[in-house]
Amino acid sequence: MDMQKIGKFLAELRKGNNLTQDELGERLGVTNKTVSRWENGNYLPPVEMLQLLSRLYDVSINELLSGARLNDERYKEKAEEYIAVDLMKKSKAAKKRLIISIIVACMTILAGTAIILLPALLSAPIWLRIICIALSAVIIVLGISVCCVLTIDAGVYECPNCGEKFVPSMKDFIFGAHTFTKRKLRCPKCRKKSYCKKRLN
Ligand SMILES: [Zn+2]
Repeated sequence: MDMQKIGKFLAELRKGNNLTQDELGERLGVTNKTVSRWENGNYLPPVEMLQLLSRLYDVSINELLSGARLNDERYKEKAEEYIAVDLMKKSKAAKKRLIISIIVACMTILAGTAIILLPALLSAPIWLRIICIALSAVIIVLGISVCCVLTIDAGVYECPNCGEKFVPSMKDFIFGAHTFTKRKLRCPKCRKKSYCKKRLN
């Protein structure tokens, strides 16, 4: 996306509608400084503002993001480009969450085992060992919950029987036996329970 071009186009559209930066800001509920930042190409207006601008100026959001009015053919091209960019962003975010959850999982396992093992190695009194075991149980449960929340919406699972892609329920997800890339889940389409492979998009 060419921010400068978008900004210039926004300024052109505003002038074409005989609005000052102040007047436009007032209509949209933002300051004239914000409008000026958009038009200088410093910031991209947020989605809800793009929607308002597109209605106000009678252009599509696609055209706003392209920084020009588009004919039918170019329009289609650009639409596909933005959908592709959006998909890529989502897939990247999903991968990031997956990596974070793997790190959290490793740290959880390490912390849990360290707390159980240390007092035993140091021949600590029984009460201290019990506290450590309880503590490590809490750490493990917390760590697993964080991982579940992080990974449940990171991508979908694919049924090996019918190829259906689906997002499992939280309950199935938590209690399903799993490896790093597969999880035992019931397919909502063919109802068969099997190891489904994780797909990031
Ligand atoms: Zn299936």
